[in-house]
Amino acid sequence: MSDVVLSLAGVTRTYAGTPPVESLRGVDLSVTAGEFLAVVGPSGSGKTTLLNIAACLDRPTHGEVHLAGHSVARLPDRLLSSVRAHVLGVVFQQFFLLEQLTAVQNVATGLLYRGVPARARREAAIEALTRVGLAARAHHRARELSGGERQRVAIARALVGRPALVLADEPTGNLDSVTGGNILDMLRELNGQGVTLVVITHDHVVASTAARQVELRDGRVVSDSAGSGRHHQERSAAPSTIDGSPP
Ligand code: ADP
Ligand code: MG
Repeated sequence: MSDVVLSLAGVTRTYAGTPPVESLRGVDLSVTAGEFLAVVGPSGSGKTTLLNIAACLDRPTHGEVHLAGHSVARLPDRLLSSVRAHVLGVVFQQFFLLEQLTAVQNVATGLLYRGVPARARREAAIEALTRVGLAARAHHRARELSGGERQRVAIARALVGRPALVLADEPTGNLDSVTGGNILDMLRELNGQGVTLVVITHDHVVASTAARQVELRDGRVVSDSAGSGRHHQERSAAPSTIDGSPP
């Protein structure tokens, strides 16, 4: 039986305006544990809108979103924050690190909303930095790190809670091609270890790294290579609790 981590059914998102912008026009998408999926499409096709909705940073105008078995639309805000904290890791093009904090401190913030004690947060952060090959830089401040290192820190922060799903919006968009290639190799490796990944990109080289490609155009899915790609069957770690209590 497949283990669906994320599903969108009939999702639309309309932004008010004259005329209104229909950023998503009825998207159906299902992501199974262990998948590595790239969402491609030209600028303005709705990729970031899709990621924001999948990440529960935005709500659909119409349609249903399920995240690790929870119907997101029906959850009150308090529970939604808890589901997000336990289920999701999100990586952005601009990294969004806290400049004055060290790499370890930045990664540890990924566990702030899970009630994990400080010492355990720190240990988990070091482990996550080791996973992304950055243990040697763990105690450097974010502002002292290169672009590629900064994105590794951001990825470690997304991984630190062992989320069921990692979402990334143009994770190599601010990096040169060699550094971006290294980040991609790392994402592929993490997927090989069972991390479920959805990467949003307008770059077809990036997309070809993923086992499955979904193409958006004008807010609609126009192609989906599902079924033709490599597919990991092992389950990713299930969220331990969703009510905000420590795991
Ligand atoms: P992509 O990430 O593929 O470039 P986006 O999801 O950012 O596309 O945008 C899709 C469409 O929605 C674009 O036409 C964009 O201008 C519009 N859009 C995105 N965010 C907003 C917003 N907050 N208000 C109004 N229109 C928006
Ligand atoms: Mg975008």
